[in-house]
Amino acid sequence: MSATIIDGKAIAAGVRAQVGREVAELVNAGASAPGLATVLVGEDAGSAVYVGAKQRACAEVGMTPFDERLPADATHEQVAGRLQALNDDPAVSGVLLQLPLPSQLDGPTLTGLIDPRKDVDGLTPVNAGLLSLGQPGLRPCTPLGVMELLASLDGAGGDGIEGAEAVVVGRSNLFGKPMAQLLLQANATVTVCHSRTRDLREVCARADILIAAVGRPRLITREFVKPGAVVIDVGMNRLTPDRADRSKIDTPFGAHGGISDRPASGLVGDIDFVAASEVASAITPVPGGVGPMTIAMLLRNTLQAARLQTGQSEGSAT
Ligand code: NAP
Repeated sequence: MSATIIDGKAIAAGVRAQVGREVAELVNAGASAPGLATVLVGEDAGSAVYVGAKQRACAEVGMTPFDERLPADATHEQVAGRLQALNDDPAVSGVLLQLPLPSQLDGPTLTGLIDPRKDVDGLTPVNAGLLSLGQPGLRPCTPLGVMELLASLDGAGGDGIEGAEAVVVGRSNLFGKPMAQLLLQANATVTVCHSRTRDLREVCARADILIAAVGRPRLITREFVKPGAVVIDVGMNRLTPDRADRSKIDTPFGAHGGISDRPASGLVGDIDFVAASEVASAITPVPGGVGPMTIAMLLRNTLQAARLQTGQSEGSAT
């Protein structure tokens, strides 16, 4: 079997275009454009690239970006003060604290200071609690993006999410736990695996929907994949030239749009893409699968937060 490649780039573009249309409608109706504030502490190059991409995406859909920067030696009080000012600013609909933070700062404590109605990353204890109770709230962007990819399959490979056996590898607060909750709410039977899981291969091989968010290049090989499964790769691992087996780097969109053996980048997922695509019914590539969905869902969350603050919406119960 050769799997359908789930084109996250195209699906994300569709979400962004829809958000852009809805922002234009809001503004035409006399409301202010939603505003998204990103808070970057320090000068980590990778974080600066992510923040820049979020700022640009925000402006592209007609929202107002607020680019807040603090020095690498900022204290807890300084960051907390900035977050409070953004919580209080009516022009700011969404607040995002870029992680990781410099070592003197505690990410979960500071994230917890964001007003839950502006928590567009869905990571505050209030929103995590609402998700776990199945009540409306803002949901974490990457798991929300995965749900959108599964929905795009028109029934997750023919069988649908409802009643499917879903296995999530990874139990982080950022991804694995909220992913499991969203799947549970969609009526999947969910198993969450982690570094202490006894027989990872055997558990994964039961999955109709297999989702990996581990951070280990190609941990999931063909033997882990049930024939016909939908396979979602959240992992983003940058291989250095000495680690890259250049004959096998996964480059799903080759020069002619097919699967290529030639390396286009050193970014690989947690799944052995080429081998898994021989047995899966559908699979996400890395890059171009889950990655583009995260910013798209951040924009959707910002729009939802703006509506929440003007009393137009309760938030998502997805
Ligand atoms: P994390 O906090 O480091 O969590 C990794 C999880 O994987 C942990 O639960 C860990 O288990 C588990 N794990 C580690 N080694 C394992 C093994 N050999 N077998 C089974 N489980 C194992 O990472 P994260 O933040 O969730 O991110 C995971 C990956 O997703 C990373 O590559 C990250 O870059 C990527 N990611 C991508 C996006 C995106 O936008 N595309 C967003 C978020 C994350 P323990 O809990 O037992 O330690």
